[in-house]
Amino acid sequence: MFTAHCPYCKSVEFRGVGLRNAMERALNWLLLPYRCSLCGHHFFLVRWTAPAEGTS
Ligand SMILES: [Zn+2]
Repeated sequence: MFTAHCPYCKSVEFRGVGLRNAMERALNWLLLPYRCSLCGHHFFLVRWTAPAEGTS
């Protein structure tokens, strides 16, 4: 079972970020981009495991 957390530091402090390029738009049906508030890494969460946020 997946839990939503940063894959680098395991923090659960992260927020959704906007789509920055065509690759992220192409993956947006499946993966949502997030940025960790603790370590600053960008990472993706599979849509159905991610918190409902940043749908704009
Ligand atoms: Zn992190």
